[in-house]
Amino acid sequence: MSKSLQAIRGMNDILPEQTPLWRYFEGTVARLLDNYGYKQIRMPIVEFTELFKRSIGEVTDIVEKEMYTFEDRNGDSLTLRPEGTAACVRAVLEHGITGGGQVQKLWYIGPMFRHERPQKGRYRQFHQIGLEVFNLDGPDIDAELITMTWRLWGELGIRDAVKLELNSLGTSDSRGRYREALVEYLSAHHDKLDEDSQRRLKTNPLRVLDTKNADTQAVLVNAPKMADYLDDESRAHFEGLKARLDAVGIPYVLNPKLVRGLDYYSKTVFEWVTDKLGAQGTVCAGGRYDGLVEQMGGKPTTGVGFAMGIERLVLMLETLEQIPEEISRQVDVYLCAFGEEAELAGLALAERVRDQLPNLRLQVNAGAGSFKSQFKKADKSGALYALILGDDEMAQQVVGFKPLRGQGEQQSIAWDALAAHLATCVVQG
Ligand code: ATP
Ligand code: MG
Repeated sequence: MSKSLQAIRGMNDILPEQTPLWRYFEGTVARLLDNYGYKQIRMPIVEFTELFKRSIGEVTDIVEKEMYTFEDRNGDSLTLRPEGTAACVRAVLEHGITGGGQVQKLWYIGPMFRHERPQKGRYRQFHQIGLEVFNLDGPDIDAELITMTWRLWGELGIRDAVKLELNSLGTSDSRGRYREALVEYLSAHHDKLDEDSQRRLKTNPLRVLDTKNADTQAVLVNAPKMADYLDDESRAHFEGLKARLDAVGIPYVLNPKLVRGLDYYSKTVFEWVTDKLGAQGTVCAGGRYDGLVEQMGGKPTTGVGFAMGIERLVLMLETLEQIPEEISRQVDVYLCAFGEEAELAGLALAERVRDQLPNLRLQVNAGAGSFKSQFKKADKSGALYALILGDDEMAQQVVGFKPLRGQGEQQSIAWDALAAHLATCVVQG
């Protein structure tokens, strides 16, 4: 196929054999969030470029080199969203739904776009489920967010394979004082830093902390620690969070180098990481961003949120073989009909059964075919039972009911009794 007719590098089709697992994952998260009282919000996937520059920060990897930015026909600079928080904040401000201290607990799902180097677990179009809470400023809500994800890992059967890393970046005051101390220290060791870190030292010094460069890491061993610069309020907040995680029994490790890639975080930051996916180990990340709404022109409004990468979590379910049995089967019953008269009767019968059993996954053979070929299709569909309508069955107004997975002999069921019979032998999802 010519290159121009292929998908763009790093942007993937999610094929029919993969979608059941995606839907199981998305459905599990959606149900959990519903149960905790979060409401879904849907934002456009394109926004004015300025929105991301203002919120994410000019000197972040995303804004410096990862955005899909283009001019539209009006000459406006637009960007495919690289993350969800900016658009969510824009939406709540635009609609005034956080005004007067109104609490909002929101979540969203959808594609995000970043021009990164594609590799396992890292794509240019990827999908996130994100969550944002506005106007709750205590550690209790930070703890709820983390508790919810902890429950999710439990439901998905991957809890043992993830680890919670935690840090506090303090308020912007304490972060400012820490930044000064860090810059002073790093400047004294300027020559030992890698080139990227030398540049970041000028533009975004906290980012030096999460360098992968061994020489720079060696310099960082004796660098000032954020924890020593936390103001009382941030310290109390962090202690409150840890006490709650302890109360629920959620283990965590403190990682003083966890700073997150975006500019807007304050106080709590956290990441759920795994060693099962190679280099792309962070499956869920978030934190508190108390200054962001104001920075974007709103009234002071606290915020906290996280986003999880769906590709990475689906990959984890596959790697750990945590794929529930019921999603591998998509069909309960497959109806085979032989001859036009039987086809007509079969169609009408199928619709009657669907009226009575709306959750039954009933597939009617299409494209006619011999006895052998229809049976082959029935078997391949994964159905538990085949229904058979041939000349004999038509004459007696019955349908042949044949177990396909070795649970007994074929029997004849009267048309009127079919739905009731199916109700007893198929567990409907
Ligand atoms: P990373 O350090 O892996 O680049 P990040 O800090 O840039 O992640 P966030 O912006 O916090 O990521 O996004 C939240 C989550 O979205 C990540 O933890 C990850 O699971 C997922 N994610 C981020 N970028 C990608 C990508 N390019 N491809 C697939 N998933 C991604
Ligand atoms: Mg990144």
